Amino acid sequence: MIQQTASVIRRHTLGVAVDHVRVGGGAPVVVQSMTNTDTADVDATVEQVKALAKAGSELVRITVDTEEAARAVPTIRERLFQLGVNAPLVGDFHFNGHKLLTRYPECAEALSKYRINPGNVGRGSKRDPQFAAMIEVACRYDRPVRIGVNWGSLDQELLTRLMDENSASSEPLDADQVVHKAMIASAVGSARRAEQIGLAADRIILSCKMSGVQDLIAVYRALADASDYPLHLGLTEAGMGSKGIVASTAALAVLLQEGIGDTIRISLTPEPGGDRTREVIVAQEILQTMGLRSFTPMVIACPGCGRTTSTVFQVLARDIQAHIRQRMPEWRKQFQGVEDMTVAVMGCVVNGPGESKHANIGISLPGTGETPVAPVYEDGKKTVTLKGDAIAADFQNLVEAYVSRHYPPRA
Ligand code: SF4
Repeated sequence: MIQQTASVIRRHTLGVAVDHVRVGGGAPVVVQSMTNTDTADVDATVEQVKALAKAGSELVRITVDTEEAARAVPTIRERLFQLGVNAPLVGDFHFNGHKLLTRYPECAEALSKYRINPGNVGRGSKRDPQFAAMIEVACRYDRPVRIGVNWGSLDQELLTRLMDENSASSEPLDADQVVHKAMIASAVGSARRAEQIGLAADRIILSCKMSGVQDLIAVYRALADASDYPLHLGLTEAGMGSKGIVASTAALAVLLQEGIGDTIRISLTPEPGGDRTREVIVAQEILQTMGLRSFTPMVIACPGCGRTTSTVFQVLARDIQAHIRQRMPEWRKQFQGVEDMTVAVMGCVVNGPGESKHANIGISLPGTGETPVAPVYEDGKKTVTLKGDAIAADFQNLVEAYVSRHYPPRA
């Protein structure tokens, strides 16, 4: 067992180096994401990887599904390096991965990790040699592999065999339990085969993604008991908007709290034209609100109620959150520990001063009928009272001044 925070004991797993990013072995939980551009479109993919990395994605996965995509990968990698983006790229392979990885060695070399789905590597007698071909490429270039089982593409031959065995058993499990067993058998069995082919145990990460919260929790608990490989955690096909966020959080929070999961991805369906970086922000917010990692200062805001009949308070809470996110890339370079800062934006005198005193810096806006002034607290002490039309701008300036005064410059 590895201690990560006072309240969460991480499960012991092997550590896997994906370039400069360490996954498992007691390292902080890594945030990753996946592009939704056509990888053959170099400009669009470079742009999106850059945005995801800038938002904080520490690994970025890209689809490699065609010869055009495989040919584009080295250029994408090179362009990103030129832009100063060094987030490791993970290639996502299905069906033809064995061909693409062997025919395009520059692609194999440009990627930092391969994701292989054992349910999609080939049927019947083709399955084992095609899986072996990909693992041999990983060995040749010393690349780690995620063996990523997904219940939507579970190895049907394996599932049928386990279902038949279960039917013949004197105490048969229910069908869902057999599916869980098949997923774990597919992941762990494929990992063992990869090791027999020559891939080191500390080059393997496992995942068993499902779309049901209870299914995911049950499978990952069993998977964590069944092996020491680091685990990539995510609820697959989580969905759109709040449903996707809530379902992912419900599942991941339970597992992370049990120390299960070494890297996470939030599989949100974006709105048409929506921002792909949302999945990165949600992943960070899950980890930060659980106290597992800090990425960006947290804004504590009350929900508002009948005492906040104007939108002033909502606008300030939104604007200060946006300001912090926009400033954070620069702050992170300049100031040590700024990501731990808390900022309170409260709607009235009921809980406003109290919550503001607990934050690093907080403002308590006037509720309906209160004197139109907004006391500001820094480190528990009232420092100034803002009034007039420029409260929002004044408070932003105070936050800026607080950051430069309280956080030492990075060496
Ligand atoms: S702090 Fe005031 S405005 Fe905010 S929810 Fe509580 S009572 Fe309502």
